[in-house]
Amino acid sequence: MMLKEKVAIITGSGKGIGKSIALAFAKEGCNVVLVARTESDIRKVGKECETFGIHSLPIKADVRSVKDVKRLVEITIKEFGKIDFLVNNAGVWYFKPLHKSTIEEINEQIDTNLKGLIYCTRFVLPYMVKQRDGIIVNISSGAGHYAFADLAVYCATKFGVNAITKSLAKEVERFGIDVYSVCPGFVATPGQEKFMGKAKFTVAKHVMIKPEKIAKKVLELCTEKIKSSSGSCTDVYF
Ligand code: NAP
Repeated sequence: MMLKEKVAIITGSGKGIGKSIALAFAKEGCNVVLVARTESDIRKVGKECETFGIHSLPIKADVRSVKDVKRLVEITIKEFGKIDFLVNNAGVWYFKPLHKSTIEEINEQIDTNLKGLIYCTRFVLPYMVKQRDGIIVNISSGAGHYAFADLAVYCATKFGVNAITKSLAKEVERFGIDVYSVCPGFVATPGQEKFMGKAKFTVAKHVMIKPEKIAKKVLELCTEKIKSSSGSCTDVYF
């Protein structure tokens, strides 16, 4: 067990990639704080995680809400007294030309993928700084390096995520905190299934990456099994 007694906050862990990350961490003995807006999802994931003998703490929260984010960090500290890992995974996307996107769709992507990630990081960091230790992993995307038509706003948020990773890594190095981005290609998740229904192309499910593969990469970064320097943005396409 590589992460025994450690504590990880994983946003968007009710399904998809976040759920796989939670299970992979729990399997290594890590206590997991599960965050999503659908309480039944995180409770279910929590029960699965606890089969590995760890403590799970499902917290219903919307990462777009400062109030929710502050509360989730406070509850985590009250319960566990520390935060070793923050995995900023919650994200949404719409496949639409910009001139046909609604203001709500534009704001939802920016508010969740970028501002939500910044809020979570902002309120977790003081504890990591105090601990002089911590690892933050941001789940970005291939769309954080490459431009795709009909995904302009999503690309802007994920390019932004990689920018935050690189900038923050320099800022918090002196406190012993590492920051990474993981940039997946197409991953078979409920979110991707919804996306494919609306896209003008399809990617066969069998060539999509399994969410467990992304979880493995995040775990490797957090257990320092792979030598990667803080600020790096690692692609996982296969
Ligand atoms: P998913 O299947 O749609 O799951 C997303 C999770 O995030 C759900 O648990 C959802 O739960 C939660 N969530 C969404 N908005 C939230 C909010 N405002 N506050 C708290 N939780 C929220 O998505 P996924 O495919 O696993 O994607 C996860 C991450 O990977 C995203 O950042 C995405 O951009 C990135 N990514 C995905 C792919 C892919 O092909 N799937 C590729 C590259 C990058 P609730 O709705 O209940 O809140």
